Amino acid sequence: GQLESKSKGKLQKQICRVILDHFDKQYTAELGNAWSSVRDVLTSPLCWQHSILLNRFSSCTELENSLCVQGYHPAFQGGLPYLPAAFKCYIRRTPGRFPAQKHQAGKLKEYYLLNAASLLPVLALEVKDGENVLDLCAAPGGKSVAILQCACPGQFHCNEYDDLRARWLEETIESFIPQPLINSIMVSKLDGRHIGDLKPELYDKVLVDTPCSNDRSWLFSSDIHQATLRVIQRKELSCLQFQLLRSAIKALRPGGSLVYSTCTLSKAENSDVINLILNSCSNVMPLDISEMGRAVSQEFTFLDGLQQHELLVLPERGRAWGPMYVAKLKKI
Ligand code: SAM
Repeated sequence: GQLESKSKGKLQKQICRVILDHFDKQYTAELGNAWSSVRDVLTSPLCWQHSILLNRFSSCTELENSLCVQGYHPAFQGGLPYLPAAFKCYIRRTPGRFPAQKHQAGKLKEYYLLNAASLLPVLALEVKDGENVLDLCAAPGGKSVAILQCACPGQFHCNEYDDLRARWLEETIESFIPQPLINSIMVSKLDGRHIGDLKPELYDKVLVDTPCSNDRSWLFSSDIHQATLRVIQRKELSCLQFQLLRSAIKALRPGGSLVYSTCTLSKAENSDVINLILNSCSNVMPLDISEMGRAVSQEFTFLDGLQQHELLVLPERGRAWGPMYVAKLKKI
């Protein structure tokens, strides 16, 4: 059959052959030996991990105590001087699931579960209190919530093109952010490619967490036709990503900076897109994020040989975070 079963215990996930063969070809060429250990993690859901981002607007010490008892410890300790003490993210080396919190009317959630590498784009953005911030592709809102754990922006504009997902984004914001702060957040449902023209030179910081091939979830595509289509249409993503980036640059004020991120290993959607932008826009320059990479190197494994303005997190056993590509640019 087309599907290779890799299910154990409760997890009944099946690996999609079409996608795995496609990745084997592309990533062996792009990553060499590194691909085999990444492949091992991505195809073994039982070794996946997640981190627990505490909500500074409703966290309690009881929760932190119970996390410690269960072997979790705070990540991102030290080395990131601009991170406020209220920013707390717990991880542990062993896999396993921590229960997600259900929505309860009138009560803010205490934590958000996410892949710890998803915090790197937010940390790289270095949002300061009072800055005008745009989250261009924001649903379901994990990074929007994380931004608000780091700082209180002056204006915070969260955008999501897809209607259903925009509603999900609004729900996330409502479950994590208290009323007075919600008033400084604007949610829009625009095509991010147009925001640069609609809001030129307005923002100090823009997060471009772009639509991409989601390597981790694509490997478990259950529909072979959808998987085949994904492989064929994959090439078109780079064009959308380039257009979203160009729009983000227009939306930035001169001197402002943006972070571009994806959750794929694909060079075509990562370094190639950034290089194309750097070669075609004379008003952008790369910003060095290697120091941040060094500061978090205890928790993450990065691909060697990239440039100073980019990082690629490679999942490995015990640190199964990523894939996550992060690049930072400044508008001149
Ligand atoms: N930043 C989100 C988070 O951390 O929860 C995840 C964002 S996800 C990687 C990319 C999002 O971009 C998807 O929700 C997708 O619907 C949205 N999207 C796709 N095309 C878009 C466009 N043209 N403009 C804005 N958003 C778009």
